[in-house]
Amino acid sequence: MLVSAKEMLTKAKVGHYAVGQFNINNLEWTKAILLTAQELNSPVILGVSEGAGKYMCGYKTIVGMVNGMLESLKITVPVALHLDHGSYEGALACIEAGFSSVMFDGSHYPIEENVAKTKELVALTAQKGISLEAEVGSIGGEEDGVVGAGECADPDECKAIADLGVTMLAAGIGNIHGKYPENWQGLSFDTLDAIQQRTGAMPLVLHGGTGIPADMIRRAIDLGVSKINVNTECQLAFADATRKYIEAGKDLQGKGFDPRKLLAPGTEAIKATVREKMELFGSVNKA
Ligand SMILES: [Zn+2]
Repeated sequence: MLVSAKEMLTKAKVGHYAVGQFNINNLEWTKAILLTAQELNSPVILGVSEGAGKYMCGYKTIVGMVNGMLESLKITVPVALHLDHGSYEGALACIEAGFSSVMFDGSHYPIEENVAKTKELVALTAQKGISLEAEVGSIGGEEDGVVGAGECADPDECKAIADLGVTMLAAGIGNIHGKYPENWQGLSFDTLDAIQQRTGAMPLVLHGGTGIPADMIRRAIDLGVSKINVNTECQLAFADATRKYIEAGKDLQGKGFDPRKLLAPGTEAIKATVREKMELFGSVNKA
């Protein structure tokens, strides 16, 4: 059964580790992440962007697929199904469809409007036992066609949003989505420290986990990050393994064209990436 992310993140914050959010794109992705979480006895959050939601034929299709897998794969670790960077309307649709967690990304609204819309969703999600992530300060890079500059969030604005009663808070600290450029300045730990001091026990979320060096990840966890989003890294691993399979001509040998064979190396590569991240984040055996 899907669970809210509240308990797993509260435990992570107290225990000084982070739970990974791994974005899904299809059945293979979902299966790879769930099997790895179960194998490592780790809690996990499955992330779905609105674009991926459309690609997978809507939120209800995803809820059906994930719930079916939890049963057929005998998954017993805590699993949250979470809308990533949701619009207000997207969050409502996911709550209706059976997601156990949603993010409302109101970071592009003026702070007053972000507060007003977040407040409404706090009431609605609380009533349904669903966790809610809010965002302050846009996160750089491109996500579903929206390009942000990677600014640092204002700690006072973070406190204002945290005080509304959201479950977890994403704040820009120089992190960006996708691959990091050569001249990236690194995470702003001063900003993170200030946010953590203003928001206390609130689990903080680090977006754009792909390519952040391991020592920065550990330091971010020390400073209150309890959820780390990983998306691009699984995509790169999947593409790389699939390309190698094709380039080696394996699809031309025997029944190597069978999608169950063709997609297997990519699926294994996602599992290896998820395993590596769970070990780095410290969530192994925390289910
Ligand atoms: Zn993000």
